[in-house]
Amino acid sequence: MKIVVADDSKMWRAVLKDFLNSEGYDVVMANDGLEAYFKIHEEIPNVVISDVVMPGLNGYQLCRLLRNDPNFSSIPILLLTASSESLNKFWSKYSGANAYIQKDSKDGLKQISLKLREMGKTLGLEQKPNPINGKRAFGDTLDKLFAEISLRGEVRKLFNHVEDMNYTIRRINDLMRDLFEIKAMALLSITLNEMALYSSVTDFEFLEGWMVSQLVRPSFPQKKRYIRIDGETETKGLAQISKVMSFDLKEQGVITIWRDRTFSNREIGSFSIISEELGGVLKIGVQLEEYRRNANFDDLTGLANYRALEGELRKLWDDGKNFVLSIMDIDHFKKVNDTYGHAIGNEVLSSIGKILRDFAKDFNFFAARFGGEEFIVISEKKENFFEIVDNIRTKIEKARLSKSVPELIVTISAGIAERNGFNSFTEVVEMADQALYKAKERGRNKVLNYEAK
Ligand code: GH3
Ligand code: MG
Ligand code: MG
Repeated sequence: MKIVVADDSKMWRAVLKDFLNSEGYDVVMANDGLEAYFKIHEEIPNVVISDVVMPGLNGYQLCRLLRNDPNFSSIPILLLTASSESLNKFWSKYSGANAYIQKDSKDGLKQISLKLREMGKTLGLEQKPNPINGKRAFGDTLDKLFAEISLRGEVRKLFNHVEDMNYTIRRINDLMRDLFEIKAMALLSITLNEMALYSSVTDFEFLEGWMVSQLVRPSFPQKKRYIRIDGETETKGLAQISKVMSFDLKEQGVITIWRDRTFSNREIGSFSIISEELGGVLKIGVQLEEYRRNANFDDLTGLANYRALEGELRKLWDDGKNFVLSIMDIDHFKKVNDTYGHAIGNEVLSSIGKILRDFAKDFNFFAARFGGEEFIVISEKKENFFEIVDNIRTKIEKARLSKSVPELIVTISAGIAERNGFNSFTEVVEMADQALYKAKERGRNKVLNYEAK
């Protein structure tokens, strides 16, 4: 078995050579990392043993270069160091070495011997026949590393505007055009809650099915969005490459590009690197979108939340717009919870949310969950507001709000007040609340206007 050993210390070179020879290995010595790199290409050893701290190319760098060289990407590498610093352990792990031994420890040589025997058993150490031109390999590997770093850098720039996914996807499309002269692109981003397909190719349904089928663990979210981007709408006769984008082993989506000539291996390699980086961009972008939605919407009812309500009221107030609002409160809701349980209570809230969203859409109202079982709707038009709110009341009274308890009937009470005559939106809300209180007093399942005393 042949071993290339790199160490800049004359003393250690002598010690290691004697020891390894006595163990029956064929040893080629190098005085530093670069010399070792060239000797490895000439000699094609079975194992590399390298000191960490050496002038010029050090042990980690040697390791990184070899790992990026297709001929030696899996050659067993044993790193030796004279210090026990934890950073060394970290780097030997992340530079791709197979083992790390503190050579000046009491049993350093014995450990080396054990490791070599272990490696000889577990790793297929076949001698490669032809020596390789080390200088050319060195240049090629550096080229590859630099290209990779630049590509990753380009993709990372996308984080600048990651809060706007539409913009980010357009930038990805531009990058793909510049790099590969593509004709068309499709990008699928998928989470448990939502799927978005950005594509220039217009057969969205087909694309969706085909792209999802490339995922090892596909999810099938209810919410789907199709977004058109620039490029050819047809892919007939075009060459295509496709990659799954992952972040930390979790699949984030799929990207596919098309063009009118085939892709070289080098291009496919670059596309893989970009897809890898895009996994992170998608992860952050989609999460930001979700956070933003959660910041303004209430999950259970699908209505605007308190924070969004406050924003809306402030805006109406500052713009000097007249508006009328109603606060609604479920009657005896505690009893619903006590009788049927909290889950059924939630189902009721969710159904009422749906009813309010439908009314809001039909009459151009703003509808929000004000608190636990209280809601607010706002309209900029006073006409018929009372009647519409009363229709909401009737609709809820008649609706089947729980699938599992079909006989359950729930009513609401509501109070109404309008902007005119008050000095702040908080006052308007308070007055509507007073009217609501009166409606409760007068027997519930009622709508009342605020009346000045
Ligand atoms: P009233 O007619 O006087 O309004 O009677 P009520 O029982 O509705 O009284 P109150 O407004 O004091 O009680 C509201 C109840 O709503 C208390 C709370 O347990 C329940 N609640 C608030 N938020 C939620 C929620 O998110 N889910 C469920 N299931 N219940 C909620
Ligand atoms: Mg209440
Ligand atoms: Mg109540």
